[in-house]
Amino acid sequence: MSRHSDVDDTASDSDVSELNNHDIGASSIAVTQLGFAEDPEEPLTAEAFPSKSGGLPLWLNPEHILQEVICQVCEKPMNHLIQLYTPEDHPAEAYHRTVYVFCCKDGACHKKNWKKCFKVFRSQLPRQNPYYSPSSESDSEDDDSWEPKQFDAPRLCSICGVQGTKTCGKCHNEYYCSREHQLADWTFGGHKQTCCQTLSETQHKDITAKRRQLVFAEKEIVSEPEGRGEDGEEEDAQQEFSKEHNGATESRALVPAGDEIYENTEVDVDQAFLKFQLRVQLYPEQVIRYTRTEYGQEDAEPLWVSDKGKPDPKVDVPACAACGAERTFEFQILSTLLNYLGVSHVATDSLDWGSLYVYTCKDNCPTQSNYIEEVLWKQDFSEEGVQLPTARPDAVRANE
Ligand SMILES: [Zn+2]
Ligand SMILES: [Zn+2]
Ligand SMILES: [Zn+2]
Ligand SMILES: [Zn+2]
Repeated sequence: MSRHSDVDDTASDSDVSELNNHDIGASSIAVTQLGFAEDPEEPLTAEAFPSKSGGLPLWLNPEHILQEVICQVCEKPMNHLIQLYTPEDHPAEAYHRTVYVFCCKDGACHKKNWKKCFKVFRSQLPRQNPYYSPSSESDSEDDDSWEPKQFDAPRLCSICGVQGTKTCGKCHNEYYCSREHQLADWTFGGHKQTCCQTLSETQHKDITAKRRQLVFAEKEIVSEPEGRGEDGEEEDAQQEFSKEHNGATESRALVPAGDEIYENTEVDVDQAFLKFQLRVQLYPEQVIRYTRTEYGQEDAEPLWVSDKGKPDPKVDVPACAACGAERTFEFQILSTLLNYLGVSHVATDSLDWGSLYVYTCKDNCPTQSNYIEEVLWKQDFSEEGVQLPTARPDAVRANE
């Protein structure tokens, strides 16, 4: 979601750029990057360092991948919810950095104990690594000498894309993370019919399509800074409107049918929710809000969807288990993402959340080919808040 500065592309300038980053970081206000879900224009690959939701995880470190990601309620494999490519300048090992979020797709598990239904992992690689050329596109003449490492690629689960440690006992051609996914492929994926057969291209496509129905639909996450996009003018107009009509109290702009509400003093207006609505309605299709705390800056605040159910920082956001550093807020996943996952909202046990908040090690401590687990907090919309229609956009952005 954030990009390396151009200055950083030349090694000789890197010290200067680090200093500059410190200077800029200390004085600037963190700009929230908004993420939007779109159909990928071409198949997404790890080499392109994508940010995406759904589909199979694309591993930043192709040699070392996650083994099993299991829901601690139903003990079935979790689904890949989102991965964000979030390169950092410090430390050097975080030059490439991807954060993966997984969740159980069964809403019943979330109702029992949502804290056991999410997992967040951080993966990092330095610029000099065995898998990706250290050159950027702008200095491609250095490319000639660089060769990627040859290694035995880990086997991927045919269903979910994490490490496949089990294999089909008959054909030994398909790999699975778990017995659960082996069974799912045998029945739903149609492997029962195709096991030990040589498949035509069409059959292969059919099978892939069936398997993808078992995971969340894949969308690319594209980002733009909040308040500077194509809707900028609209945003100004709306802020102007709310000033004119509501004086200094922004939140009142969102109270519908004002008279009845103001007269009824017993209505408990959730201020956080009103603030959330005001902010989000400017870009109603947003699915991600990315506000990384810059070096030495004050911690970024998420946009809460309610006054209730905020995490207690001391208890719910513990220090990094790997290095002991503080974890700070990095990004939030909005309820709008649910529209793009291909899951039903109607079913009683469907997935639901107001927002998911991801907190990560402030120091981006080295991961050493491992996956460092980070922290996720869930907040629901308050039932006592003013009930306004939540932003449920159509599947495509109108202006694309
Ligand atoms: Zn579960
Ligand atoms: Zn699997
Ligand atoms: Zn088989
Ligand atoms: Zn750490």
